[in-house]
Amino acid sequence: MSEVRHNWTKEEILEIYNRPMMDLLYEAATIHREQHDPNVVQVSTLLSVKTGGCSEDCGYCPQAARYHTGVEGNDLMTVNQVKAQALRAKEGGSSRVCMGAAWRNVKDGPEFDQVLEMVRGINKLDMEVCCTLGMLTENQAQRLAEAGLYAYNHNLDSSEEYYKEVISTRGYQDRLDTIDNVRKTNVTVCSGGIIGMGENVVDRAGMLVALSTLNPQPESTPINALVAVEGTPLEEEKPVSIWEMVRMVATTRIVLPETQVRLSAGRTQMSREGQAMCFFAGANSIFAGDKLLTTPNPDVNEDMKMFELLGMNPQKPFTKKVQPQSVEANDSKFESLGEKPKWTRPEHKIDRNEAAKAKGKLVK
Ligand code: SF4
Repeated sequence: MSEVRHNWTKEEILEIYNRPMMDLLYEAATIHREQHDPNVVQVSTLLSVKTGGCSEDCGYCPQAARYHTGVEGNDLMTVNQVKAQALRAKEGGSSRVCMGAAWRNVKDGPEFDQVLEMVRGINKLDMEVCCTLGMLTENQAQRLAEAGLYAYNHNLDSSEEYYKEVISTRGYQDRLDTIDNVRKTNVTVCSGGIIGMGENVVDRAGMLVALSTLNPQPESTPINALVAVEGTPLEEEKPVSIWEMVRMVATTRIVLPETQVRLSAGRTQMSREGQAMCFFAGANSIFAGDKLLTTPNPDVNEDMKMFELLGMNPQKPFTKKVQPQSVEANDSKFESLGEKPKWTRPEHKIDRNEAAKAKGKLVK
């Protein structure tokens, strides 16, 4: 049985990533079979509960207010709207709903209370609930846990070195600190990244070092292929080839043997054969739904046809961990502290982010 290691080096990971493809696939598939049922795929539905208008400058993101991408912003959805969408996702075969809000960080107040109600509502549907709401404090993580949150997503995106080339409005350490706050609760951590942002393979290995040294390693790791959206600083990046994606998935599987490795953004650019290769290489989760926050994603029926073709089945909820109990707001042990944490703002200049911002101002 492959052991979980927290001391991987970049050199070791690069050696794996660059192996002859058949050797890489064989090892990844072997580890995958030791740890997981290779014919089961966990299906998550990503729901944008608050879209656009974000103050951050993530170079890949069409929801950043400073770029002109045509994304229409929405206020926070109502609890009933979210529950209705979650029910539809459940009927479509999803075991998990991941709610995304385009926020820099969670702020105590009515909107966060509304998100907590959404978490309670989805937990009562016997689905796993995940949130991705930006940076959060320990108290906020505790309140989410008490409401019945199963997982919190907070991606590291890339290596620490390349992160500075993509985002200037917060630091890598803020990400790690948020993950640390989640770790103080019984909520599991979902954290991964994006390839195709102009980073090199050393950066990809660097990201895997950072993820693998988390202890425990993330419960799930999304591997995204950049969807280069017009108006964002990364609009001209070339699409990631399927071979890079397969290498990244296989390497992730070897380095994070117990983790659910999720094929995330960029699946519309992959053939069924390409996706099947990723499943063989160790991917065992997908995002379902026709949109991933704001970018396109394959139709749910298409995914179900692909599963049928491959003889794969969606994973049942709470297969890996028991359903968290959900405490009602009136019985909560944790109060809103009205905290104002000082998350960093390095604000170093990233030329392509500045150029996209200037272009955005002209268009607006
Ligand atoms: S990735 Fe998240 S934090 Fe960054 S701009 Fe987009 S919505 Fe904001």
